[in-house]
Amino acid sequence: MSGKGVLYLCATPIGNLEDITLRALRVLKEVDLIAAEDTRHTKKLLNHYGIKKPLLSYHEHNRRQRGRELLSRLLAGQKIALVTDAGTPGISDPGAELVALAVAEGIPVVALPGPSAAITALVVSGLPTSSFCFEGFLPAARGARRRRLEELKKEKRTLIFYEAPHRLLETLADMLEVLGDRPVAVARELTKVHEEVWRGKLAGALEHFRQHPPRGEFTLVVGGAPPEDEEGSGAGLSPAAHVALLVEMGYSKKEAIKEVARQHRLPKRLVYEEVHRGEEK
Ligand code: SAM
Repeated sequence: MSGKGVLYLCATPIGNLEDITLRALRVLKEVDLIAAEDTRHTKKLLNHYGIKKPLLSYHEHNRRQRGRELLSRLLAGQKIALVTDAGTPGISDPGAELVALAVAEGIPVVALPGPSAAITALVVSGLPTSSFCFEGFLPAARGARRRRLEELKKEKRTLIFYEAPHRLLETLADMLEVLGDRPVAVARELTKVHEEVWRGKLAGALEHFRQHPPRGEFTLVVGGAPPEDEEGSGAGLSPAAHVALLVEMGYSKKEAIKEVARQHRLPKRLVYEEVHRGEEK
């Protein structure tokens, strides 16, 4: 074993203080030092569990200098737990930078899994979870935000965004304009007393939050690009005509039936039967 320390990435609750693992509590008790995004915030969690440990801040504004300091402590053999205000360190916070520094120095990094707002929102959204795309915060400036949304327009996977309450309305409006009226779940204050998940479409969400000014923490889960945006899409075509189009494009009949069934959300057998009926006429 090297004389190097260990950097533990310690997931903490995103609201409900009970959402912390037994392992995280043990490690927080065992380490030499806890690096926290906001030491006052983390103190509340530690007090709740009767943990007393030296705390050092590590956040967006001191990450360069503090990162070097934490690194030299790790190289000297200290065990350090990194925690953020909420959720899993490294997701939309400076944690990933410290991990990169530690990895570059060959310092062992151990992740202690736990809550993350992105995954929590995704699983309650009711939208497809089989593949998804985490975008974090969109740019704050309108032009850059819309450009990013344009880039995402064809993304078929479910999209997950973090957003600040004071930007929620403008972001929903831009999403509606650029992406179209897609399904959305607006997850607010997850795991907290005022937890709420608004489900519907972007236009409805915009109207709802115009009437109920956004407060608290928000994660948005937005449906991916609809099948109509796909290459060779048969928007407006019957399944049989769509199969014919794909065959013309070079698909085998079997592949075309499979693809049309997927895009039209129909059982393959139904598409096959329709194609077959058309051929018999
Ligand atoms: N590392 C964290 C994680 O794993 O969830 C995310 C850090 S990011 C700086 C904080 C953002 O996460 C908030 O601005 C909000 O968009 C989202 N968030 C955090 N807690 C939330 C909650 N309880 N409900 C909904 N969204 C939340």
